Amino acid sequence: MKIPFYDYARMNASEKEYVWPRLEDVLSRSDFILRDDLAQFEIELAKFIDAEEVVGVANGTDAIWLALIAAGVEPGDEVIIPSHTYIATADAVRFVGGIPVLVDCSDDHSISPPAIEEAISTKTRAVIPVNLNGHACELFTISDLAKKNGLTVIEDNAQGLGARLMGKSTGTFGIASTLSFYPAKNLGCYGDGGAVVTNSTEIGKRIRQLRNHGRNDEGEVVTWGFNSRLDNLQAAILSSKLLHLESSIEKRRSLASQYCEGLAGVEQIKLPAPPTQGTDYFDSFQNFEIEAENREELRQHLTKDGIGTILPWAGKAVHEFDLPGTKVMDLSNTNKIFKKIMLLPMNQYLTNDEVDAVIKSIRRFYRHE
Ligand SMILES: *Cc1c(COP(=O)(O)O)cnc(C)c1O
Repeated sequence: MKIPFYDYARMNASEKEYVWPRLEDVLSRSDFILRDDLAQFEIELAKFIDAEEVVGVANGTDAIWLALIAAGVEPGDEVIIPSHTYIATADAVRFVGGIPVLVDCSDDHSISPPAIEEAISTKTRAVIPVNLNGHACELFTISDLAKKNGLTVIEDNAQGLGARLMGKSTGTFGIASTLSFYPAKNLGCYGDGGAVVTNSTEIGKRIRQLRNHGRNDEGEVVTWGFNSRLDNLQAAILSSKLLHLESSIEKRRSLASQYCEGLAGVEQIKLPAPPTQGTDYFDSFQNFEIEAENREELRQHLTKDGIGTILPWAGKAVHEFDLPGTKVMDLSNTNKIFKKIMLLPMNQYLTNDEVDAVIKSIRRFYRHE
């Protein structure tokens, strides 16, 4: 049995039935830029998240960058982010002239609220909690902390779509949040795509102008801007896939339960919290991130069994890239977990038999049969 980490061909085949007719429909109308499919998708997604407004942009990195600009972050401002994140979060801060302040994570691998508090200086302007792996950060605590210290909160929700904390959707806690529709994300398009989500009419208006050369609704240039629009074709694809998002998340949650039950008792592994009902957290399992002893040997063993795994961010936290212009806080927990973390196959296209094969292979490796 071959189990690749992510099987794009399988994704494509399983969605063909509802995505391809939609493509044909858009192509037959030659509707390419800022058309109805985009406007409709923005409304549908806002409803799904329970947010006022969604503005489609070119990708998830642009989404963070534009949200920072719209929120008024300026050159020299410090922006607190976790070091356990995609380089994109730091890139966005850097390209508004800000200083990425890299802080530690908690035991659940999410940004640590005490570490945020410790990193606050007179220059701190904003904080970007990143809802990694489909798991919400301590967003209520972080919101309170931010309010107390006059900081702007922008959630990087590229991995958190569909996750909730005490019933409240991730992506609705700050002044804005951002999404990525990279193909392997929970809601992925067939290329690059992203969005800014907000409950602020003012931020929504600014993002709409920024993404389209500073133009207002009448097409008049009223401010400086860029070109960062979500393609109408991609919006149509996303719109057809959005109808299946809830069931995809349910499937991921059931596979996560299977992993948690199947790997219980293997003391060399630390698992994420299982997707139990009735708890404060509703995780959408964008990824299944574990901590494993003898990680390199385990990965080799899995590869021999035909099972693909990957390391988060190819194995390096942001501070390990040694880029100039960052401020690095105490990262002891991040450094500790980065020797152990890895991602097991996790997506809605996997079968129970495949997940079972992964579990068996891991148990064999640790002689826990
Ligand atoms: C995927 C991702 C992004 C941005 O993705 P794009 O490839 O630019 O769409 C940003 N942050 C995190 C945490 C991500 O996982």
